[in-house]
Amino acid sequence: MPVNPLDNLVRALSRLPGLGRRSAERAALALVRRPETLLDELALALREARQNVRCCNLCGGFTTLDANPCALCTDTLRDDTQLCVVEEPADIVSIERSGGFKGRYHALMGKLSPARQTGPAELRLQALAARVADGRIHEVLLALSTDMEGDATAGFIAEMLRARGVRVTRLAFGLPADSGVGYSDPLTLKRAIGGRMEV
Ligand SMILES: [Zn+2]
Repeated sequence: MPVNPLDNLVRALSRLPGLGRRSAERAALALVRRPETLLDELALALREARQNVRCCNLCGGFTTLDANPCALCTDTLRDDTQLCVVEEPADIVSIERSGGFKGRYHALMGKLSPARQTGPAELRLQALAARVADGRIHEVLLALSTDMEGDATAGFIAEMLRARGVRVTRLAFGLPADSGVGYSDPLTLKRAIGGRMEV
């Protein structure tokens, strides 16, 4: 039986975070109702994002094809001695918005999680060790979530970097439990960065 394209669209939209089945249906119906404006515009934006948005080879944050390493990695005014480790590229956006950090970034692309079968090899930990190995970084600030998996990831990294003589700190509490950096408001994040503690 041929797949109904409208059902297909609803199914694809409902996989997006924050969009349940009902909202996906509403969005899909609005799109096909105005194909020349909404649908074409979205299709073009999706294609452009697919072609041009990349993760930075150095920090893992979002950038474009023609700017890799990204602007945050190449900005000469930022502090090379401080490295902020986050779980997801989106966390970099949140920390930048808080204005509380002026060093470099490193996104792990997840956290250690036995439940999701994410082990050290699935994260960008080797790349982190390599960045710290060149000796320029004095402090690694772990901006990880405050759940068991975030704790385990922080412990693993602290252990990994201890021998390298680098200071490892973690965001002060104040961040909501079981939430990632991405869910914290800018002011809370800025305070958490200011009050960071030795791991
Ligand atoms: Zn970068």
